[in-house]
Amino acid sequence: MATIEHLLKCADLPDSPTPRLDAEWLLAAALDKPASYLRTWPEREVPAETAERFAAWLARRRAGEPVALILGRQGFWSLELEVAPDTLIPRPDTELLVETALQLLPATAAGVLDLGTGSGAIALALASERPAWQVTGADRIDAAVQLAERNRQRLGLANASFRKSDWFDAFAGRRFQLVVSNPPYIAAADPHLAQGDVRFEPASALVAGADGLDDLRRIIAGAPAHLAPGGWLALEHGYDQGEAVRGLLRQAGFADVQTRRDLGGQERVSYGRYSKESGDAR
Ligand code: GLN
Repeated sequence: MATIEHLLKCADLPDSPTPRLDAEWLLAAALDKPASYLRTWPEREVPAETAERFAAWLARRRAGEPVALILGRQGFWSLELEVAPDTLIPRPDTELLVETALQLLPATAAGVLDLGTGSGAIALALASERPAWQVTGADRIDAAVQLAERNRQRLGLANASFRKSDWFDAFAGRRFQLVVSNPPYIAAADPHLAQGDVRFEPASALVAGADGLDDLRRIIAGAPAHLAPGGWLALEHGYDQGEAVRGLLRQAGFADVQTRRDLGGQERVSYGRYSKESGDAR
């Protein structure tokens, strides 16, 4: 039998940007222990069956599969979420959208819509932080709606719900105090789609037309009819799309338009407030 230390040292992940971390996550999961266990007990022997499972997972990681999909789970905000190949794997960058949304409205009762909810990450993070909000997550992919609902049930969040919708289509006549979305925003020809983890994620969650703005345009165009007076729209977008998204928001009649930067210093989230006056003033 091999020790924890030995297995980690021999784990060979040449193409991963984070080889040591990946190996630790996979071995801790194979052992069904927290990662801290590995550092506390480096000399401990690993049962053969566990070592075999670890070896099989390493082989999948070597073939490029993201750790989150190998383990079927990913941490986001304070939550642990089930993830699947049908949706985007929640990213740390998207926590900026959650933070922004939490600052835009008071903690009192409000209706919030998360478009393209995928695993439900944004909707569930908001529901967990704001018990008085009613958060609806929508996705046009059935498997995503089911996945988000499983995550909701496991987390026991009664103030979130999920339904099938292509952007605003299922919400005719309904208005929300806040609409958030992390839509697909990568340009179809972007070479980054052929590299790393995104190769294992669905194009439906990543790609949005020639300039990556197709879905952002649709959401911004549809938002005024679905926002309560003074309601906010907050959107994640690509690092180089801030100016375009601010322009689209202003053209659609949004006021107080601003952009926030992610931890890497890139423009990542833009938002604005819809008021009848700003709409009429154009
Ligand atoms: N930020 C993600 C990436 O670049 C894309 C997420 C998205 O399209 N919404 O991999």
